[in-house]
Amino acid sequence: MKYVTEYRDALLVKNVIDDIRRTVTKPWTLMEICGGQTHAIVRYGIDRLLPNEIELVHGPGCPVCVTPLELIDKALAIASSPNVIFCSYGDMLRVPGSGRDLFSVKAAGADVRVVYSPLDAVELAQLNPDKQVVFFAIGFETTAPPNVMSVLHAQSLGLTNYSILVSHVRVPPAINAILSSPNNRVQGFLLAGHVCAVMGYHEYPALLNKFKIPMVITGFEPLDLVQGILEAVKLLEDGKVEISNPYARVVNFEGNKPAQKHIAQVFEECDRKWRGIGTIPMSGWKLRQEFNDFNAELRFDVNEIKAEESPLCIAGQILQGMNKPQGCSAFGTSCTPEHPLGATMVSSEGACAAYYRYGRVTIGV
Ligand code: SF4
Repeated sequence: MKYVTEYRDALLVKNVIDDIRRTVTKPWTLMEICGGQTHAIVRYGIDRLLPNEIELVHGPGCPVCVTPLELIDKALAIASSPNVIFCSYGDMLRVPGSGRDLFSVKAAGADVRVVYSPLDAVELAQLNPDKQVVFFAIGFETTAPPNVMSVLHAQSLGLTNYSILVSHVRVPPAINAILSSPNNRVQGFLLAGHVCAVMGYHEYPALLNKFKIPMVITGFEPLDLVQGILEAVKLLEDGKVEISNPYARVVNFEGNKPAQKHIAQVFEECDRKWRGIGTIPMSGWKLRQEFNDFNAELRFDVNEIKAEESPLCIAGQILQGMNKPQGCSAFGTSCTPEHPLGATMVSSEGACAAYYRYGRVTIGV
């Protein structure tokens, strides 16, 4: 398949890794920001192929992992309400809230449905005018365009029984928070190619100037990843502070302008709490006031729900590159995909799930 097969070519990947070996002269710590990249790195064993000088740490770019616990509890409360069809992407159903998850609420009789697009939820609202249909609108910049389009589409249809429960987060403020931490170890970033496909990379020069570390826009196939790592190592070895874009077949500087326009029409920036990490100023999006009719938190009056994290779970450290899953005492023992304590063990983009699934199950390392 074009644009996939050639980017999984083992010989090409090996050649780039050989290039990395020839280039690197000292230790460097790189962070891949996106959980999809984390899974590809662990799945293809790229971290084990790299020379010892290069350490990859895993970033917070897993939307399921960073959705705050109280939002999960709010979703559970809304889904349990009478006359509600609660719609979500599938990987949110097993994310533990304070006591339950959406699967257990569904098993208890609630109408919880897995959809593949928020537009499917809008269609459900059209087909079920006597029900309130709620879509769990989580994610980064990548899922914002379909979520805002669902609101605009519902508005154009005159629907009064469709709303979204919003927990949107943005990458640049997260990078700012990671690099501002006194515990930061990250010396170079692999930026998330799909986020940059939507937003471009015009937001990153300010971060580059502030923190003076190189950033490389990186894709998701093995060849994309090793090329991104090679580019970051070259920049670091040469002492260059630049944004490099080897993923130019997908990303340009401006990004998808129509998508950005629709996001700005429906959402505005806000402070957002990240699960395990805490509140990062202006790191999220919320519905603008003029779209209050589509705001599930207002419609169901769940704003007062508060929740506390399990003290065992160190996902917040992992999501900021300060620890690895094996550093968690619960990893593979009291926390497994069947019995997760934290969202990073559940999500298809979670670092703990990747380490468990692809055999990094050594306990207590
Ligand atoms: S292994 Fe489980 S408890 Fe530990 S950090 Fe990961 S999700 Fe949290």
